[in-house]
Amino acid sequence: MDRSVLFSLEFSHFNKMGFYLDLSYYLEIGMQTLGKDIAIMTNKIFTLAKHEIKPGTKQVILFPAPNINMQVKINIPVHVFHGKKKGPKLFIISAIHGDELNSIEIVRRVHEHINLKKLSGTIITLPVANIHGVIMQTRYLSDKRDLNRSFPGAKKGTLAARLAHGIMKQVVSHCDYGIDLHTGALGRMNMPQLRADFTTPGTKDFAKSFNAPVILNSRQRDGSLRQAVGKLGIPLIVYEGGEALRFNELCIRAGVRGILSVLHHLKMLPSKDPKIRNKSKSVVTNTSRWLRAPASGLVEPLKDVFARHVKKGDILANIHDPFLINPSIKVIAPFEGIVIGQALKAMVTEGDALFHIASFKEIAGVRAYIDEYREEISHQ
Ligand SMILES: [Zn+2]
Repeated sequence: MDRSVLFSLEFSHFNKMGFYLDLSYYLEIGMQTLGKDIAIMTNKIFTLAKHEIKPGTKQVILFPAPNINMQVKINIPVHVFHGKKKGPKLFIISAIHGDELNSIEIVRRVHEHINLKKLSGTIITLPVANIHGVIMQTRYLSDKRDLNRSFPGAKKGTLAARLAHGIMKQVVSHCDYGIDLHTGALGRMNMPQLRADFTTPGTKDFAKSFNAPVILNSRQRDGSLRQAVGKLGIPLIVYEGGEALRFNELCIRAGVRGILSVLHHLKMLPSKDPKIRNKSKSVVTNTSRWLRAPASGLVEPLKDVFARHVKKGDILANIHDPFLINPSIKVIAPFEGIVIGQALKAMVTEGDALFHIASFKEIAGVRAYIDEYREEISHQ
């Protein structure tokens, strides 16, 4: 492993004793060349963080992160697959929320499909963007900040802002497209779905090529990677599937297949799989709403409503008084739609989000496609 110090990050804060600390974290870049020189190169050498990557090779570049205990150095690996042929540059980032582990498994499986000899363009992956959160199995960074509310970040900002700035500068700025992988937050389950903002040119076709059953064409959250990348005019899609801290096989398969579909659509990798080559049937909606608990208590879902079609007036759950004194309260669907997310908590407080319902103009088509999609993915 060849390492070289490239530049340092200045990082200051107060410690528990109240003393002012002025710490410098040195950014070390390591690299590992896994590919071999090739005689004929139709693509140019790609330079990332002063490392030159030859066409037809892969490198792992290590971006050091601020240490948790200030004793042990930790690095954030960035994988660069540089194809022999020219093509788009795409980044795939996962675990921006450190407890969303499905996304890391999706990237691992996608790596297995990348054939450098057949790759056109460049794929840059960050399997673990929030290394502090992954180590601690939490959504947040060690400074309790949410990395996905800290973009585009700042060179002289907080730990979260500096990490966000580094991702924007070292990865995003090189790319033409981006994929950001997530799951539901802790205690929430999401069916496979995309979030995208079609106002960024090129995003609609890019999002549809993922072939997710549902795309939410939604407003961007302040400080999110999606918002920062969109402002640069780079199409970015957010894949959501499964729940925090757990693997969900169907959602992992859906994520892998979606990314391979995107790579095929962008002509970066060929595909013989007819399902990947098929025209997208993704259904787009601008409207979704969380149905909130009408009372506090224990939740008893009445039927399997997750990823299913519900009609206005359907009873989705009962909320029982844990002291068994007051009558139970029904949770009723306020409109027709597909339940794209569900809270998994047994005990809720009035106002807690329970069911995330997306509405569609033509619900029958969506319902049929989701059933077909579930069947396909489960037999994949
Ligand atoms: Zn997330």
